[in-house]
Order: sequence, then C-alpha cells, then structure tokens
Amino acid sequence: MARYLGPVCRLCRREGMKLFLKGERCHTEKCAIERRNFPPGQHGKARRPKVVGYGLQLREKQKLRRIYGVLETQFRNLFEKAAQMKGITGENLLGLLERRLDNVVYRMGFGTSRAQCRQLVRHGHILVNGRKVNIPSYTVKLNDVIEVKEKSKSNPTILAARDATAHAPVPSWLEVDREALRGRVVGAPRRDELVQIQLNEQLVVELYSK
Ligand code: SF4
Repeated sequence: MARYLGPVCRLCRREGMKLFLKGERCHTEKCAIERRNFPPGQHGKARRPKVVGYGLQLREKQKLRRIYGVLETQFRNLFEKAAQMKGITGENLLGLLERRLDNVVYRMGFGTSRAQCRQLVRHGHILVNGRKVNIPSYTVKLNDVIEVKEKSKSNPTILAARDATAHAPVPSWLEVDREALRGRVVGAPRRDELVQIQLNEQLVVELYSK
C-alpha cells in the first residue's frame, strides 16, 4: 500500500498543531510548530483563514489520516468498515486505526514514530503470535502477542527507540515487557487514551455521511 513520501512537518503546520510525526525531533525546539507555526506555502504567513462547516470536517479528517499515516482510499475503506460495526462509528474508526500493527508497535515503544514502526513492520522485524507479519495495516486482535523477532532484538535502532520511549505511557489495553521487546493485546482501545491530540471524530463521520 502506498504511503505519503513528502515533507511531514508541513502537515503539522497545515493543521496548526503538533501531530508527532517525526519521533524525538517533535519534542525539541527544532520542531517546525515551535519555529514556524503558520500554514506552509507562499502566503502561509499572510493569513490563517477562518475554517467553518465543510472545512472543519475536512481538516479533522486530514488530521486523523496524517496522524496514522493512512491514505485516502484506505481511510475511506476503514470508515466503511467502522460504519458497519456495532456502536458509535467515530469511536469504531479510531479503534480500527489504533489496532493497526504499526500503531501497536509504536504504542509499545519499539519505535519513536509511527513511520519508523511502519518500517520495522515492513522490514520483517515484527512477529505476531510467533509469525512474521510485514503488513503495517494488519489489525491486531485480543490476546495477540506482538514482539520484535529474536535476531532483531539487538538492533541498535530498536534499542535506542526503546530507551527514548521508556517514559511514554502504555495504554491500558496493551501489556508490554520492554526488556523482552514483547507485548500482548489485553483489551480494546479506549477513547480517552486514543491519541495525545485533540480530535473530534464526529466531524469525520459527518463528512463521509453526506
Ligand atoms: Fe515536525 Fe514533529 Fe513538529 Fe510535527 S510535531 S512539525 S512532525 S517536528
């Protein structure tokens, strides 16, 4: 599945907030939101137009897509799936995004950004229930055991990421043994723990329900 390959800090600048797409850099003064918190482009500095109605819905959808690194078609498909599930569509959508394998690896602290975790998955460093899964969009299930494969447990990048994320909170639906680079899914994602960023997923539901 394709992925966005362009500059990512401009995505945060467009949304006017940190989306934490670059790992450790996002927590330093080098972050573009700290330095240039205005929209990208030639006229970015000149004005930040008032966003209402459709614009608000669009921005909310783009923000969510960008946080999880999902392109439009795949995101739309996830929405359709969420709409068919029991419960609140917006929360179902967030739950599906959270249960993506690359996100789970990120939440477990084996990488410093979702993009890095996506690469770990693509390059075959991650096992699910003892078998290699190299599909970042794989949806984890209750009791799945996710771990770094034995050969990669000494990988300096993974070890550095584990140290860098040592103090990051692990959501209650995941159980992690950081030393062993292994974790288990013990529940379902909770809305209040889903993202560090303020989101209104209901606007995404309204946008797609038109
Ligand atoms: Fe760039 Fe991270 Fe700052 Fe976003 S939060 S602007 S990705 S450094």
